[in-house]
Amino acid sequence: MSQETNPSAEVVRRQQEREFDISQTVLFESNAPAIYRSYEKWKDIPQCYFIKLRLNLGYYNTAGLAMWMANPPYWLGTIVRNSIEHPELFGAKCPCGHQAYAYRYAGSPLSGSFSLNVACPECGWKGRSSRSGWMIRRETLQESQSKDRRFLGLLKQNGIDFKVADIRDLLRYIGVPETVIANPEPAEKIERFEGPNGEVTLIDPYGGAIIFTGSAIHSRRWDGPSDLVTREIELMNQRKNGDGTCK
Ligand SMILES: [Zn+2]
Repeated sequence: MSQETNPSAEVVRRQQEREFDISQTVLFESNAPAIYRSYEKWKDIPQCYFIKLRLNLGYYNTAGLAMWMANPPYWLGTIVRNSIEHPELFGAKCPCGHQAYAYRYAGSPLSGSFSLNVACPECGWKGRSSRSGWMIRRETLQESQSKDRRFLGLLKQNGIDFKVADIRDLLRYIGVPETVIANPEPAEKIERFEGPNGEVTLIDPYGGAIIFTGSAIHSRRWDGPSDLVTREIELMNQRKNGDGTCK
């Protein structure tokens, strides 16, 4: 058998992995209130805790550099525990009066602005909250990640090997009905941020971003192609070629 790797097989494998991770993330976002509500029930099950999410926690600047709030992998347990332990940074008050917790966030180290999507475990409400303080949140999240990396290392040292669950199994375990699991809310759409110097950033919540500054378009990706970003670049190039030039 040939030892050579087949590049197209690798591309297909990465694409499948990416789509699987996105499907897990969409189910997480869709069922965030139930997942937060039942944290005590699943937090000690490594198969559930270490479910991988596909979040886009990069900040992209026009020099073509991405600055990470935290590096992947982003584990479900880390994101949830971090919000529960630091609600002042990763939460907001729900209109019902209870604490809501962040399940997605993005921000800029330059302006310090930070926006959170939050979910209330009590009443199921979802909303958004904008604050300042990118750096403190970055430090806090990275500390939570280190703690979990050490924990995972300990499990491995002790010969505890496990296969990470499909998030659908976690949802069944905590009593989410099959019909709800089968019908998640639509995936998040591309987000638009305007920077302090007039630059506009479009972020694909599942990976990649484009920054444009009037004349130039810079695209940044991580971990494989992003259909949303690719499509936006095509559209923007069409617009750019379509207006402003008289031949
Ligand atoms: Zn509420």
